[in-house]
Amino acid sequence: MKFQVPRGTADVFFEEAELWNYIEQTSKEIFKRYNYKEIRTPIFEYTELFQRGVGETTDIVEKEMYTFTDRGGRSLTLRPEGTASVVRAFVEHKLYANPDPTKLYYIGPMFRYERPQSGRMRQFTQVGVEVLGSSDPAIDAEVISLAIRIFEEMGLTNLRLELNSVGCPVCRPLHREKLVTHLHGVKEKLCKDCQSRLERNPMRVLDCKNETCQEVTKDAPTIDQHLCEDCKSHHEKVKAYLDQMGIEYVENPRLVRGLDYYTQTAFEIISKDIGAVGTICGGGRYNGLVAEIGGNDVPGIGFAFSLERVALALKEKGIDLKLAKGIDVYFVTTGEKADSVSMKILDDLRKAGIKAEKDYLGRKMKAQMKAADRLQAKYVLILGDDEFESKKVILRDMASGEQQEVSFDDIIPVLTSKLR
Ligand SMILES: [Zn+2]
Ligand SMILES: [Zn+2]
Repeated sequence: MKFQVPRGTADVFFEEAELWNYIEQTSKEIFKRYNYKEIRTPIFEYTELFQRGVGETTDIVEKEMYTFTDRGGRSLTLRPEGTASVVRAFVEHKLYANPDPTKLYYIGPMFRYERPQSGRMRQFTQVGVEVLGSSDPAIDAEVISLAIRIFEEMGLTNLRLELNSVGCPVCRPLHREKLVTHLHGVKEKLCKDCQSRLERNPMRVLDCKNETCQEVTKDAPTIDQHLCEDCKSHHEKVKAYLDQMGIEYVENPRLVRGLDYYTQTAFEIISKDIGAVGTICGGGRYNGLVAEIGGNDVPGIGFAFSLERVALALKEKGIDLKLAKGIDVYFVTTGEKADSVSMKILDDLRKAGIKAEKDYLGRKMKAQMKAADRLQAKYVLILGDDEFESKKVILRDMASGEQQEVSFDDIIPVLTSKLR
């Protein structure tokens, strides 16, 4: 029996894990700068939360959730996205009682039963933010600029920001009506997915990736011609802030969110460095979601990106992470007496903040020196029984080949000053 990872999942290790850490650390550092606080929610929730919070008519809820019944007979689902859980926590812990807007970020695994492909896995990692409690267009601009800031500081430059307003429950019904009429006229030509979307979720037809669908809907009415005064003014202010910050965007009136609780600002960030569907980040306002999940009428906005897709874009770009390669010291010992103090000296090195390693396979000195080379050690400490008697070690600089004797007591100060 040979075990393999389940389809759509992956082991992440060595350089790939370093890349993931780089993405997470860069994101966290910037979240802090923008005053966002971390939230960690459970990996699974009651299924109903996602049915309400993601929407019954979405592909996610209809076909992609990992839902199971636990031993107590409850229906649970591995989270397919982060927003519903964050909003649930916001309501459950009455975070709205705070007089300031609640600014949160999360990083963690999500699960969707999809056809696995490059950068799209069944277990994937999402990095996202949610801001609850402000409908100020300046917050929209902050959230967008935060996303851009993260990608730029990671080293992604070839980005396109697409922006739209999806309106609100006041102005959307009028557009929806016109759109549905138009779509009925071309129904036969739409792909199967769009034919069913037409009834449940007509806005989504506009951003179908199918070429025929794009062609036959090219003259379909878009929301921008139907925005109410409120939505229009909100949108203009968001754009004005972006202009002030020098953030370029392309208006895309076909950029939509299918569900009623999405309102006004919608945006996507596209990396021109990865493949045909280069979307690496999506976000927008959802002023109706908190109420949908059982809270008060609290406005919200957020974005999320998939860590796997960003990792892919960084690799395509050939980003040099400038990771600290190698170790500071490899500790070579021969003989029983030397061995007897080796763990103590190694421990002292590590306590002093020095990245140190030794042999654990009982290898001869020559093999230990080879190991030091493989690990790219800057220095080697050599301790044999002779040196042990005189309470000294030989310190070898691996770059120059120079050697010197150092007494036990001086190992830390000498290495510390050399490594500085
Ligand atoms: Zn409106
Ligand atoms: Zn379609």
